[in-house]
Amino acid sequence: MAVSIIEAVRRAGLTGRGGSAFPTAVKLAAAQRVGAELIINACDGEIGAAKDHYVLQRYLAGVEHGARLTQLNRVVYAVHAGTDAEKLLSAHGKNVLSVPQRYVSSEASALVALQHGRQARPMTKRARLVEGRRTPDGRKTRPSLVLNAETVLRIAQIEQHGVAWFRSFGTDQEPGPRLVTITGAVHAPGVYETQAGPPLSDLLAQAGNAHIGSPALNIGGLGGTFVPMDDVPALTYSDESLADAGARVGPGVISVLAPDSCPVDTVDGMLAWAAGESAGQCGPCMFGVPAVAQDFHRVARGMGGASVFQDLKQRIGLLPGRGACHFPDGIAAFTASALTVFAPHLDEHTAGSCPLRQRGLAA
Ligand code: SF4
Repeated sequence: MAVSIIEAVRRAGLTGRGGSAFPTAVKLAAAQRVGAELIINACDGEIGAAKDHYVLQRYLAGVEHGARLTQLNRVVYAVHAGTDAEKLLSAHGKNVLSVPQRYVSSEASALVALQHGRQARPMTKRARLVEGRRTPDGRKTRPSLVLNAETVLRIAQIEQHGVAWFRSFGTDQEPGPRLVTITGAVHAPGVYETQAGPPLSDLLAQAGNAHIGSPALNIGGLGGTFVPMDDVPALTYSDESLADAGARVGPGVISVLAPDSCPVDTVDGMLAWAAGESAGQCGPCMFGVPAVAQDFHRVARGMGGASVFQDLKQRIGLLPGRGACHFPDGIAAFTASALTVFAPHLDEHTAGSCPLRQRGLAA
């Protein structure tokens, strides 16, 4: 007897490829029960991410097939406004949800809000997304399921090639093929087909290897963490292994830091950018994230001495779990990992110098 697509996805062990790693079969079953509509998130919302666009360019027919298999109502593709992805989908006559170019705009509940005529801002956590939620102005939304474009493609592949084929990739706990964007200081940046389990150094080799002297990787962008380059040989690309370094696969973005750029300045710039990206709905995010960015900037510029360090650590501890979405949590983890991985370098900044600048390397 043929199994349903939900059962096939469950047996395959498919989890969301957008970063949440939530079991797709659970979401799909709930969405079918309430007749939800499907929003395919192809925004590449994390810094440096490019795999959603890659999926649309190469596998649009597969994504379409996966969307049909979900048996959900109206299908809409969420992409950032003015991008090549939007042009591609429009040229193919797809329903497009044009998403503003802000970091939190592509968060799942922000997409649902936008789809229902509201601003692309994350909604509160009180109601369940699949069954309909309340927008910030109190309106009820239609039931909606948000799946990442790669996740929808994997549904089609499970139906076409079977559960055993899918499980022949990855590990028992993290099965299936997956895509990763490798960017920054590598010789061949791009999107690569991979799986959970290969040595992290093999993955970097696929991208032409890191530039010699790179101090660290960032895995997961602004919501991710830093991993010292010295730790890379001991790690494989899986949540299980990366946990040893406080990291996770997340949305599948690896950015290699340049050997001639100051990592502290890089973090400083990213936090300054993040501080302007709050949707302005929650205090911890509206005030806490800019305060973290300001404190980090003072540390980076050698202002305020050791007391600024303490303030910064305290502020980081106040962010997690207090916003309506996970943006502040991600910023807290990102900053904490920078403080750990770049501790010796930060000490020199606190003392008023930068080892790279002294060597005439950093800009
Ligand atoms: S935590 Fe920040 S980004 Fe998330 S909903 Fe609140 S204000 Fe918006």
